[in-house]
Amino acid sequence: DQLLHIRQIYKQFAGNPVLKGVDLTLYKGEVFAIVGGNGAGKSTLMKIITGLYRPDQGQMVVEGSEVLFHQPSDAHKHGIYLVPQEPLIFPNMTIRENVTIGLHENKAECARRIQHYLSVLGWNLDLNRRGLSLSIAEQQLVELLRGLIRNAKILILDEPTSTLTFSEINSLFSTIKKLTSEGLGVFYITHRLTEIFELADTVAVLRDGVISAKGPVRDFTYEKLLEGLMPEKIEVLAP
Ligand code: ADP
Ligand code: MG
Ligand code: MG
Repeated sequence: DQLLHIRQIYKQFAGNPVLKGVDLTLYKGEVFAIVGGNGAGKSTLMKIITGLYRPDQGQMVVEGSEVLFHQPSDAHKHGIYLVPQEPLIFPNMTIRENVTIGLHENKAECARRIQHYLSVLGWNLDLNRRGLSLSIAEQQLVELLRGLIRNAKILILDEPTSTLTFSEINSLFSTIKKLTSEGLGVFYITHRLTEIFELADTVAVLRDGVISAKGPVRDFTYEKLLEGLMPEKIEVLAP
């Protein structure tokens, strides 16, 4: 079951091409990892998918219909949510208020949805705690919950583990695995190649503005992925 298909996405900033024809497809229940060197355009691609940036060219198809996102709320309507590297948390609001902000459903329905996901995911989170008391990992959970209770179908995690402890990473990974087993699709952006072998089903290497390699993770070795990220070989000219 195809969740998202993007075709020939182009994006430049002030004449500098960053994405030069990117194609990819995300399926239900899939963890799709995207790797690439610093500045390769990973975040730009994810910002296009979540409506933060508009592509210069290209098509996006969500569950069979072509879409054009002008802002994140357009992506949200299609169930696409970004869990940013730096979560947006209101320090003086409780977790409950932070999660449900802007949601129009009544309090009982909000509480029911939150409790559903807390129990599915096995989290023990005191919803009355204030934003300012949350660790980065807990802030990411709040962002995840924000999407989940709004019926997210696709979650995008942009380098989520850079500021997490080892045990927080394990708990995030088990959360992602539970969510994908329920049909969610996940884009997972990382610099850490070992994480791909623990978590992802599919991996794509973004390089020079295009997907230079892509396939099931089982077809890749660590060395092959690393090689895909190496700078171009410098040609040695004959004397
Ligand atoms: P990555 O996430 O792979 O490290 P980014 O997508 O953040 O890479 O950036 C890719 C390139 O696009 C970089 O050269 C960056 O400076 C540029 N870029 C990204 N966003 C903007 C922007 N809003 N304005 C100008 N340049 C940008
Ligand atoms: Mg970067
Ligand atoms: Mg980035």
